[in-house]
Amino acid sequence: MWMSTFSRVALPALQRSTSAMARPALRACSRPGLQTAGQVSSRLTSVQLRGQQTLGSASLPLARHSVRHARALDEERMMEVEWEDGGQSLYPFTWLRDNCQCPLCTLESAQARKLLMADLDIHTGVDTVEVINDNKVSIVWPNQHTSVFDAEWLKKRCFSPAARQAMQEELFLNKRYYWDSKLRIPTADYQEVLCDDKAALAWLLALRRVGIVYLKGAPAEQGQVAKLAERIGYLRLTFYGHTWQVQDKYMANNVAYTSGRLSLHTDYPALHFAPGVQFLHCIKQAVEGGESEVVDGFHMAEQLQREDPEAFRTLSSLRVDFTDTGVDYCDFMLQSKKCIIDVDAEGRVERINYNNATRESLLDCPLHQVQPFYKALKAYVDIMNRPENVVTYRMEPGDLVTFDNWRLLHGRRSYISRPDMLRHLEGAYLDWDEVMSRLRILRSSVQEKV
Ligand SMILES: [Zn+2]
Repeated sequence: MWMSTFSRVALPALQRSTSAMARPALRACSRPGLQTAGQVSSRLTSVQLRGQQTLGSASLPLARHSVRHARALDEERMMEVEWEDGGQSLYPFTWLRDNCQCPLCTLESAQARKLLMADLDIHTGVDTVEVINDNKVSIVWPNQHTSVFDAEWLKKRCFSPAARQAMQEELFLNKRYYWDSKLRIPTADYQEVLCDDKAALAWLLALRRVGIVYLKGAPAEQGQVAKLAERIGYLRLTFYGHTWQVQDKYMANNVAYTSGRLSLHTDYPALHFAPGVQFLHCIKQAVEGGESEVVDGFHMAEQLQREDPEAFRTLSSLRVDFTDTGVDYCDFMLQSKKCIIDVDAEGRVERINYNNATRESLLDCPLHQVQPFYKALKAYVDIMNRPENVVTYRMEPGDLVTFDNWRLLHGRRSYISRPDMLRHLEGAYLDWDEVMSRLRILRSSVQEKV
């Protein structure tokens, strides 16, 4: 059942353009300890379905659009295009001149603009506008420079709110599937993801939409997280090295390198630009304990906003100091200031920054804000810790978990450390820019092969 749930979340982009071959790559994990499929709540399903409609309409290959008519509206300084399907689009003259696709104005080999802002007349008029053969629109400017625009190119750049929203969704996949403890973590085969483009695309779509994907079948030896990062591009180097070994270490330079419990946290808020994606690969598991825990930080923030708006306002406006000092890849002395809940200009949550271990004792706020801050943080953490919100799983050697470190908070139960049976995970970070870049490339190549 998870598979069908997963298909609705992550695969609409493929459904009409590819076969169902991508689907077997992600399947329900049947290991004991994971939630059963029947527990997926109906509320989550409705969220998914809303997401699906948008993703589906935004990501399907564009139908061929034909221009019926194009004309200059000189007073408004815009070109109006009337489409064969009856719709209309408006394009400002300045924008059209700025984006002329001719070889003088665009370096085709780099798909980059050559035209300098200094040479752009932002008050330009036009001489003529006409539809020419092969469904293109030609504009002759007052200095007789000619621009030719392809109908599809124009359609994609339509300024209507609906078109802009669909395009932004196709580019950034910002619609997320929120979940709670009933989540069945989407699971894929490690080797398939490495060698099959459809499997890799399905993996990255789920990583974006759901925030966590489990890969099974990796060799239980070091080097796999780096190999997986190469599938995308490159990994993110930090002060803990290219990859890092999570083990019980003497004189640990990080609380992760002990056998103690780790409360729910995001990694590395001490960096102003925290890593976007985290890979963790289990090489050896503890004999007892060491279970992993995750919560959907965006979903928890939404709950906080509903239950305690004042707490949400505090956590999304007060910048908290984080610190991390030590020696690993080299010596480091980090300081950062971050809101625990980052929201974008529209007020949507875009990143969680919270690690209680590296939260500075120095608190840069007026005295009267100290107690409200603790109250707000406690309210958020209490929501996260509710059993109905936490997904618990136990990694076995060869399992590799990939998750959104800007969204999920993860933790670990304490474990019994024995010298002859050392728990060992290898981790690596990547950034969302590189991951989304690979996702877009895979999406184009998979769609092209249809
Ligand atoms: Zn030009």
